[in-house]
Amino acid sequence: MACTAIVGINWGDEGKGRMVDLLTEQFDIVVRYQGGGNAGHTVINEYGKFALHLLPSGIFRKGVVNVLGNGVAMDPESLMNEIRDVADKGVAVTPENLKISDRASLLLPWHRKLDELEEMRLADKKYGSTKQGIAPFYSDKYQKKTVMAGELFYPDVLEAHLKDLMEWKNLTLKGVYGAEPYTWEDLKKWLETSCEAIRPYICNTGALLRKAQKDGKRILFEAQLGSLRDLDYGIYPMTTSSNTIASFAPVGSGLPGADIERIIGVVKAYSTCVGEGPFVCEMFGEEAERLREAGSEYGAKTGRPRRVGPIDLVATRYGVEVQAATEIALTKLDVLSDMDEIPVCARYLLDGEETDEFPFPAALGKCKPVMTKVPGWKSDISRIRKWEDLPETARNYVEMIEQAIGCPVKWVSVGPERESIIMR
Ligand code: GDP
Repeated sequence: MACTAIVGINWGDEGKGRMVDLLTEQFDIVVRYQGGGNAGHTVINEYGKFALHLLPSGIFRKGVVNVLGNGVAMDPESLMNEIRDVADKGVAVTPENLKISDRASLLLPWHRKLDELEEMRLADKKYGSTKQGIAPFYSDKYQKKTVMAGELFYPDVLEAHLKDLMEWKNLTLKGVYGAEPYTWEDLKKWLETSCEAIRPYICNTGALLRKAQKDGKRILFEAQLGSLRDLDYGIYPMTTSSNTIASFAPVGSGLPGADIERIIGVVKAYSTCVGEGPFVCEMFGEEAERLREAGSEYGAKTGRPRRVGPIDLVATRYGVEVQAATEIALTKLDVLSDMDEIPVCARYLLDGEETDEFPFPAALGKCKPVMTKVPGWKSDISRIRKWEDLPETARNYVEMIEQAIGCPVKWVSVGPERESIIMR
């Protein structure tokens, strides 16, 4: 059975969580394949409102198995807090519906500390990190300086391994940042609390997924962030530290031979961006404030106000191409309902020439948006459930986007709730 991926096309926060939550009905397994506890996938359903950080968004569906693949930054502390939070609202998380890959590397206590120390050192040149330790984690992973979750089953190997890593990391903590070194007592406490708590969920998820594939199970890959934050294809260095694109899903999930038949790209009806970095279509002043308020654009993880702008057709087309998206879910169309005219970033102006091509990251700072405006619909569309019931100008807006990015829009969402969706 071929697999499906749900990915972000823009800078993240497109509404992937709500789409995974909606579509999990059609799947047996949901796998997170990259990123860590820095995600903030908002889901609103019969259990309440959630901002999922590490848990896959299939956790609310009975019978769905959720997997944290080998590509994620497995943060035991963050995961246990999250499991507690969702359990408080009546969602059972058990070793039956959550499985952690034994090959997922563990985010170690010093990763969060190092993230904080480095952002402080950078001061006004900071990346705007969520300080969840993600960048130090991935750089250590690729240096082979973390431990894998499965090592928790080999205490002797683990103790020696962790002691070596601690000795090495303390050199950086003390020497570079003048910070307190870690002790074995600190690590023992971490092992006995957070790590002990995640042990029951750890297993060979690679074997489980391969068997599931042979048995014809339906598998969904869930991405964190979006195309423009991909480490290789995004706005480097203002990216995240992992590959967010769908083609990484087979590697990061534990199913390296997976054939991804459908790649559902989630696009927001306007643009938002959290943190630092070039954002060509950015709007400022009162117009921006109105859009931010209308869309409640404050970070799910950090509460930070998101930078906002009109839809950016140049960046979105590029995002669709690098994801190789086969279909689009366009979210938050309702947020634009108050506008007489809707601004659109149609092209970029670079070195005196207009371009449709998304430029090399270092050139983005020089780009200016070339804006057009299209008519708005000025009516509440949040209760509409059929395409043909949308005002003509709203349909025109969706079709204009579809044509510009070269990918069919299959869903349009008009509210944050599971049922606020129009299928075409
Ligand atoms: P994700 O990380 O891609 O899942 O996105 P976030 O959860 O960070 O941000 C999406 C936000 O938009 C959340 O607050 C959702 O509840 C909200 N949302 C999603 N779809 C819609 C929609 O169609 N209309 C409105 N008004 N809000 C939406």
